[in-house]
Amino acid sequence: MKLLLLKGYYGINVHGDSHGDLGCTVYDGNINPDIVFIMAATIAHNSKDIELEVIDAIAEELLADEMLEELNKREKEYDSIIIKACASTIKLDLELAQKLKEIFPKTHLSFSGHIAKLLKKWINFNAKYIDEIIDIPLDFYMYKMVNETDEIDLSKFPCINYTLFPYEKYKDQGKLRLSIQTSRGCMMGCRYCPYNAFYNNKIYYYDIDKVIDNIKCIIKLNPEVILFRDQYFTADKERIRTLCKKIIQENIKFKWSCETRIELLDESLIDLMVESGLFMICFGVESGDNKLLDKYNRNISNYQNISTIVSYLRKKGVLTLGFYIIGFSEDTWESAENTLKRAIEVNSDIAQFSPYEPCVLDANKEECLTPDNFILFENIMGKDINRNLCQEEVDYLVNAYSLIYNCIKGELKNNYINEYAKKTEHIKEISYLQNIKTGLKGICSAVREKEWERKDAI
Ligand code: SF4
Repeated sequence: MKLLLLKGYYGINVHGDSHGDLGCTVYDGNINPDIVFIMAATIAHNSKDIELEVIDAIAEELLADEMLEELNKREKEYDSIIIKACASTIKLDLELAQKLKEIFPKTHLSFSGHIAKLLKKWINFNAKYIDEIIDIPLDFYMYKMVNETDEIDLSKFPCINYTLFPYEKYKDQGKLRLSIQTSRGCMMGCRYCPYNAFYNNKIYYYDIDKVIDNIKCIIKLNPEVILFRDQYFTADKERIRTLCKKIIQENIKFKWSCETRIELLDESLIDLMVESGLFMICFGVESGDNKLLDKYNRNISNYQNISTIVSYLRKKGVLTLGFYIIGFSEDTWESAENTLKRAIEVNSDIAQFSPYEPCVLDANKEECLTPDNFILFENIMGKDINRNLCQEEVDYLVNAYSLIYNCIKGELKNNYINEYAKKTEHIKEISYLQNIKTGLKGICSAVREKEWERKDAI
């Protein structure tokens, strides 16, 4: 079977596997590997029955209209094309699908990603050019198809093959950063969490020996950092103890970072993690209002430990990054202030404040979703969310908290360069592109010409 796997690019950088595989637009200039997409390609590549071609147009910065033109010129046929779509570019991804069907009318065209699952009903009725909707993670789908099985066993997945992609482009702050996983999904059931929604409140584990094999594979590519892209890295602390011990015993040297629930860590585990290469840890605190967290099923037992553990990590030389959300439906000025107070108390090296971006719905509401519910190049559904604080107030708090926190940390200049200036440019660019009514072609052309800059100059 001749298979083409691709992602569309429309001028704005998208981090494809983030936000529970809905994808997020990003303005920091980092190009992030989409681990679900890369693993799907790896599985297909390892099958003797598949002749694979992949296009990560985001990493290549290959605009969608140019990609279509190139594919049209090649006079090549595919049996199957799979698009990995994203919530913030859904209308453009659908248009891309339609245009691909025009070029390849006989090809089986599939649409994947968490957004495909959310819009399944709408696509079935309205987008007849799409032959199949893949409503599970793309690599799970590929594994099931290639192995003719219904059971997902991550440990039987092949080692992730970055060489199928322009992996040198996956950079964070100019450094080559590649991702692997020791697990996928999460069982903690936080009600706002899109990972939880996509993976049905379930966690899948790799055997630790398989993780070690994966590390050995990607270390050959000389990444400066390896990111363990698990949703909850220390969900099973004993596994991670075993992993760290093996890394130390086998003398595998690399710097790594992870995301986890730090309030549940203990000093002996942290010591092992540091000895095996941990240099940065990211964790969600989310809110300073315990009642609110409780309502969202966020387990807050041990929350009082967070600041103690942050101090311990700092003593061990580990960089800490805490995530906070502003604008939950129940948030008030008072609860939002408590979130800032908690952030100051936790005292991580970096604090990231983000607006609440609801993307988890009950099944009834999912049935009614259409592409109009998603705002182009933004990580949020329609802004008419029923909440105490309006969008403008939420945006104000997010910006103010970021300023206050960076002022306390003496990081104002860095924050201006790495956050504020880039974000301002990004907002200008997307505001311009959102007003273009001529779809994929018009947007690609505006991006090529950098029309928003010319408009400024006039
Ligand atoms: S612990 Fe993190 S990954 Fe797990 S459900 Fe909660 S927010 Fe999601």
